[in-house]
Amino acid sequence: QAKEDGRGIFRFANLEKNQVAQDRLVLGSALRDSLAQGMLQLHYQPQVRTHTLELSGVEALSRWHHPHLGNIFPSRFIAVAEETGQIEAIGRWSLQEACRQIVKWDRDGIHVPTVAVNLSAVHFRNRALPEHIATLLKDHDLKPARLTVEITESVMMDNSRDTEEVLQSIRNLGCGLSMDDFGTGYSSLSRLTRLPLTEIKIDRSFINDFEYDTNAQAVTMAVIGIGSRLGMTVVTEGVETEQQRELLEKLNCDVMQGYLFAKPLAPQDLEQWVRKGGAPAVIREIEAARAG
Ligand code: C2E
Ligand code: MG
Ligand code: MG
Ligand code: MG
Repeated sequence: QAKEDGRGIFRFANLEKNQVAQDRLVLGSALRDSLAQGMLQLHYQPQVRTHTLELSGVEALSRWHHPHLGNIFPSRFIAVAEETGQIEAIGRWSLQEACRQIVKWDRDGIHVPTVAVNLSAVHFRNRALPEHIATLLKDHDLKPARLTVEITESVMMDNSRDTEEVLQSIRNLGCGLSMDDFGTGYSSLSRLTRLPLTEIKIDRSFINDFEYDTNAQAVTMAVIGIGSRLGMTVVTEGVETEQQRELLEKLNCDVMQGYLFAKPLAPQDLEQWVRKGGAPAVIREIEAARAG
């Protein structure tokens, strides 16, 4: 009896695994087609200076709308792309697209100081990456500081010499280098000091319920202190409420990003947002609603 049960469970687990694998197969080939047909898009989420509410930059986030499969979120397709080896193509595409967009904004008189692009761990094992970025910047006639590369803690954990050298070369070009989702992975503080980072982004899980969670506040305050003393810009992501914003202002975090200011926006919607007055206009409206 027990054996049979065991086998039943085993078979069930296998079935689920097959479904996941099939999902990957379907998504993987759909992704290949969509990428080839230019059906991926970048949306841009504003990043705002805490004390002045000026736009400090935008983060580029991939969006995929498939005619039959609908909207597929990056949490699902980036993992597929990493497994199927398509992430390199996505990275090259997003770097290129972000550069093209920032040049267009410059021409249209929309001032976006920097654009941040997310890259996965595999990119940094490719020694050709810094040269590729340098060429892109040159082709678009962009100052390197206009581009920030966001890495995750999995990149930090990659102890290979190649990765460290690639990161250093990107930094030497003059691009920003940001540690994304800080506090969720396994990175040690010593790694933080060894890498040539210009910025850390405190993960939004610390900012959820931040108003009511004094432990999260304590950790955030400590990370802001460490980051500032290491000369890095400290960004908090996932800022959703006015209370969170006010608290983060008191804690002297440098830059904020979150739905409070704007969701990731299509390029033309970002332009609209800027033209309507950006974050100061958003906050004025909230304060007016509060007062009246
Ligand atoms: P991330 O780089 O940490 O990006 C921030 C994520 O938080 C985005 O989710 C954004 O929409 C979301 N977010 C921003 N503000 C708020 C907020 O106030 N509240 C909440 N609940 N969420 C907020 P998204 O766009 O779904 O992307 C998820 C992750 O997928 C990204 O996390 C990034 O790791 C990855 N990703 C997205 N685009 C790319 C890409 O082109 N390449 C690579 N390698 N990864 C990407
Ligand atoms: Mg990011
Ligand atoms: Mg993040
Ligand atoms: Mg995140």
